Amino acid sequence: MAGSNSVTPLGGAGPRDLRARVLRDLRISVMDRCNFRCPYCMPRETFHDKYRFLGSHERLSFDEIVRLARLFVRLGVRKLRLTGGEPLLRPNLTDLIGDLTAIEGIEDIALTTNGALLGKYAFELRAAGLQRITVSLDSLDPETFRRLSGGFGGPEDVLSGIEHARRAGLEPIKVNTVIQRGVNDHTALDLVERFRGTGVIVRFIEYMDVGNRNHWQPNVVVPSKELVARIGARWPLAPLRRAYHGEVAARYRFTDGRGEVGFISSVTQPFCGGCTRARLSSDGVLYTCLFATHGTALRDQLRSGASDDALLDVMRKVWLERSDNYSERRQGLLPVSERKVEMFYIGG
Ligand code: SAM
Ligand code: SF4
Ligand code: SF4
Repeated sequence: MAGSNSVTPLGGAGPRDLRARVLRDLRISVMDRCNFRCPYCMPRETFHDKYRFLGSHERLSFDEIVRLARLFVRLGVRKLRLTGGEPLLRPNLTDLIGDLTAIEGIEDIALTTNGALLGKYAFELRAAGLQRITVSLDSLDPETFRRLSGGFGGPEDVLSGIEHARRAGLEPIKVNTVIQRGVNDHTALDLVERFRGTGVIVRFIEYMDVGNRNHWQPNVVVPSKELVARIGARWPLAPLRRAYHGEVAARYRFTDGRGEVGFISSVTQPFCGGCTRARLSSDGVLYTCLFATHGTALRDQLRSGASDDALLDVMRKVWLERSDNYSERRQGLLPVSERKVEMFYIGG
């Protein structure tokens, strides 16, 4: 049942969607452009030199993002994640982080980056109030890395970025690795070996059919169960309890005490039932699912003078009417005919 509750004071429950899920997390894409061309996200054949990305006036300004973030807090949001595209390409990002950390009710702000520019910005980000960071790194093998970045950067840049983040205190640092069979699954254990015992938490993500352009095939997905078995055979693992409701990663600790490793199994073990996330694209469209086919444009309303109450009404209605559960339905949907939003645009 959808809740009838509307705006609640801080700490209140907030609106519930049609499957009784609250709104707790907001992913904000601050930049649709990227300095990589990962084939599973922004394949080069589509995102070439002539591809038309958003102009700066089309992206939400920092003031607009902050205003919406404040309103989202009134609907229940407590956690923010800045993403993209590549968020570190957004000029003056630290100004935005400073403003977001000042919002009462926000308990956690994180950022997901490909790490190429992290060495340059880690200390500034921490000084602006960023608490922790997630760095995407698909392989330590230079050739495999470049295949997965579309030919840009190298593992050494990302490792150096991670080291700067560690020195800056952007912890805990998580490393996100998307595994594809026959592409980088042979280098998965190297990543575990590299980060075990360092405090950096590696999380393996099942390759997903996001967007319409990555030529996803189910047989390329490596089920987390298989990876758990492979890693566990080398370094014995024991499952950990979920740290909080809605945590998407299944966590395991190394029984020798050298930290933990996580698995995000969006394909083989969908977690739609606990999905409390909304996503805001860089041009201000609100989406309630990573696999959405449509969203609700907020930017024009912001720019045409809509009041906070009017915007809240729209946002609340979107959440109350939400019924998304794409990952639970995926098997029945393939081959997919619906056009989904692209990940670089709404953020992963
Ligand atoms: N550019 C930044 C980065 O790569 O970390 C932030 C945006 S990126 C879209 C966010 C995350 O989505 C990355 O960890 C990336 O690996 C993941 N991602 C992108 N396409 C994916 C796919 N098809 N399946 C699973 N994860 C994917
Ligand atoms: Fe860029 Fe991140 Fe997408 Fe790779 S996954 S193309 S780094 S936005
Ligand atoms: Fe949430 Fe949609 Fe992913 Fe399900 S498929 S967990 S509803 S984002």
